[in-house]
Amino acid sequence: MNIHGQEVIGVQVDSETRCLHYHSEIDRIAIKFHCCDTYFPCYECHDELGCGKAEVWPHSRFAEKAVLCGACGHELSVSDYLACASACPSCSAPFNPGCSLHADRYFGTMT
Ligand SMILES: [Zn+2]
Ligand SMILES: [Zn+2]
Ligand SMILES: [Zn+2]
Repeated sequence: MNIHGQEVIGVQVDSETRCLHYHSEIDRIAIKFHCCDTYFPCYECHDELGCGKAEVWPHSRFAEKAVLCGACGHELSVSDYLACASACPSCSAPFNPGCSLHADRYFGTMT
């Protein structure tokens, strides 16, 4: 699935990166997995279609773009996303704040 020029791999991905697992109105981000260097809508999509050995982003690389806004295609760095996870800084589309509850599945801890 090509979304705003980025390849996003997932199960039943829609045009704003919703997937079979997370498909509410505000589920509109995809996350680039460090291990695959590819965007997936969620960790369950990565479990099914990814490399099978998920790696989180090391803290030393949090300045790299790793979150895609499905509404406008803006890419956020890990730091940007963790700092303002509730809306896109470019188009203001709301993000699902619940995603931050499992941020540790994607990103290393800050310590
Ligand atoms: Zn992977
Ligand atoms: Zn999914
Ligand atoms: Zn946006």
